[in-house]
Amino acid sequence: MNDVKGGQPCQPAKIEDAGVHEYGMELALEQARKAHSMGEVPVGAVIIKDGVVIGQGHNLKETLKDPTAHAEILAIREAARHQAGWRILDATMYVTLEPCPMCAGAIVMARIPRLVIGTMDPRTGACGSLWNIVCDKRLNHRVELITGIKEDECRKLLEEFFEQLRQGDT
Ligand SMILES: [Zn+2]
Repeated sequence: MNDVKGGQPCQPAKIEDAGVHEYGMELALEQARKAHSMGEVPVGAVIIKDGVVIGQGHNLKETLKDPTAHAEILAIREAARHQAGWRILDATMYVTLEPCPMCAGAIVMARIPRLVIGTMDPRTGACGSLWNIVCDKRLNHRVELITGIKEDECRKLLEEFFEQLRQGDT
């Protein structure tokens, strides 16, 4: 991942935290499954601080008719309310799919220190795929990035959803 545009390669993942990250990603997957059951693209996010979930969300774009109702944005809003402040420090966000430019921007704005991603998004990903907003040295905040946690489950949930959509709509 050395050819990312506009950014620097991120720090490699620390393997010793793998168990913790799998737990966090499982919670994000639960959120994604909720989105799936509502007919929304299954993406889920949770923010954990000191072992406690302080924000969670799943994609609600269709339900809310809101182009910004991505899982990450909803989780960040909840976490900021929980913190009673816009800075979400000492926390980790777990998200099933690589954040888009809007969400990657919001993660930087919220100063979230660590981001754990399930599966990458080569179409619109902004954490290493198309751009790398979360590790861009030109910004005043950089995020520790960990990828590939429960990757298969996160990807399969999306593939399943789009497969069902194709079968149902044509
Ligand atoms: Zn997004």
